[in-house]
Amino acid sequence: MADRTLPRAEALIDLDALRHNVALLVARAAASGAATMAVVKADGYGHGALPVARAALEAGATWLGGCSLAEALALRAGGIDAPVLSWLDTIDTDLAPGIAAGVDLSASSTRELGAIVEGARAAGRRARVHLKIDTGLSRNGAPAAEWPALVAAASAAPEVELVGVWSHLACADEPGHPSVDLQAARFQEACRVVDGRPLRHLANSAATLDRPDLHLDLVRVGIAMYGLNPLPRPEDLRPVMTFRSSVALTKRIAAGESVSYGHTWTASRPTNLALVPVGYADGVPRLLSNRMQVWLGGRRRPVVGRVCMDQIVVDCGDDRVPVGEEVVLFGDGSRGEPTATEWADTIGTIDYEIVTGMYRPRVARTYL
Ligand code: PLP
Repeated sequence: MADRTLPRAEALIDLDALRHNVALLVARAAASGAATMAVVKADGYGHGALPVARAALEAGATWLGGCSLAEALALRAGGIDAPVLSWLDTIDTDLAPGIAAGVDLSASSTRELGAIVEGARAAGRRARVHLKIDTGLSRNGAPAAEWPALVAAASAAPEVELVGVWSHLACADEPGHPSVDLQAARFQEACRVVDGRPLRHLANSAATLDRPDLHLDLVRVGIAMYGLNPLPRPEDLRPVMTFRSSVALTKRIAAGESVSYGHTWTASRPTNLALVPVGYADGVPRLLSNRMQVWLGGRRRPVVGRVCMDQIVVDCGDDRVPVGEEVVLFGDGSRGEPTATEWADTIGTIDYEIVTGMYRPRVARTYL
């Protein structure tokens, strides 16, 4: 039935699906004695950090992870007092408000540690710190040669409470990739020079699902919590986001008429078109032009011609669909609709990029 109240572009977020995924991941981690950190950076991978964080905590996660201090402080402002780790603050970020709010911070160098020490002095409170070692991703994290000095500096600083030691894997989504074992061995080696028993954490979603031996004390799960499977084998995960719109206008065109910029598609017969008011400004990649389908009127139908900034055109053939009818661009696939993973595979990217691409003001979010 036509639903005339649909927003122009809307992400439906199924928090029950999210809770299901988190409970599954928490159970896997708990079986190895590990706790679970729900990663809610980039506004919860486009799903909304606060509602996702609350639902993840309800489902058994006990930690939250964000990228920047601003993201972590937004969680605190939303009333969340669970441990939160912030791991990529620029050198000029004022860390004192984060330390005052009890946000855990990461240091990859003595320079970063120095900024945390200054922040702790300004906040009048010890900073909770996780030291990060680069075990082979070559992104942030201290190089092995600098690690002993970083550990020594953290241990010597009274302003620092050493809460964790951590690293991040490069290829955990390719089971059997030799770099995973190499990174794990380097990580164990790095842990040896650390006194006391700070939390050790290494595993992302893929390693949480594939490598129980790497769960250690804490796993950090992102993509799997959102129901997108990082592994090349089935897992009982339920995609959380559905992206939908509605038909704004319909028209019939004659054989030989072409559609959208560049006239890249021409009707071979008279056909009915449905205009859907979403485009690349709403997160529909232009690379999907002439390569995507939508779920409309109980079946898949092709999008024809180029994806525009805020419009796409669907070929409905002989069918007449009403203005206002729901159009599902991607969902969990259970009705036969496309998924975010299908979009990603079509254009050679990853579903992370598709769902985080919905992190934009033009796309309304509705929580189920
Ligand atoms: N840990 C760190 C440091 C990350 O940057 C991310 C995400 O990129 C994660 C954990 C979660 O990774 P995934 O979404 O693959 O579970």
